[in-house]
Amino acid sequence: MNMDFSDKENAEDFGRYCRVIENFPKPGISFKDITPLLLNGEVFKRAIQTLSWPYAGKVDAIVCIEARGFLIGAPMAFKLSCGLIPVRKKGKLPAKTHITTYDLEYGTDTLEIHADAVKSGQKILIVDDVLATGGTAKAVINLIRELQGIVIGCAFLGELTDLKGRNKLDVPIYSLIKF
Ligand code: AMP
Repeated sequence: MNMDFSDKENAEDFGRYCRVIENFPKPGISFKDITPLLLNGEVFKRAIQTLSWPYAGKVDAIVCIEARGFLIGAPMAFKLSCGLIPVRKKGKLPAKTHITTYDLEYGTDTLEIHADAVKSGQKILIVDDVLATGGTAKAVINLIRELQGIVIGCAFLGELTDLKGRNKLDVPIYSLIKF
């Protein structure tokens, strides 16, 4: 099931605060750079509020993905008064982990989550900066389900709609910016 709150709720064009860097990090990639949006405190605040409100009272914890996902997931957890669970690159988490390897738009990667971070039946929202192919989010959905968590949705600041990443994900998707 794919839902999209943005048509009715996202009146502000947050995309105009982002920029595109061509051929980064390698030739052929059109990199969506969210750092100008982060620089504008009022816009950043409104973006976090807009992205958070549909989940008020519905989430036990946010799982956010290293590294840019932390920039969005942490303020959302603060706003929603819910827990924050980092998913990190291999070798960064100190306790026992669950691990996944997955395909990126540019290369492959391995991610880990603390095995005791998600409790059985907890309602989890996955947060990242940009949805591209959906490979990362799909891998993280699988990780959380292996730990018996319930993935209630995925939220992204931006989405590369041409790549149709949301079609890979069997949970409701919300993104503020369509690139
Ligand atoms: P994917 O697994 O293809 O959905 O890729 C998602 C991850 O890669 C996110 O963490 C994004 O930050 C990053 N990413 C992939 N493609 C881009 C892009 N064109 N611009 C910015 N970030 C990207």
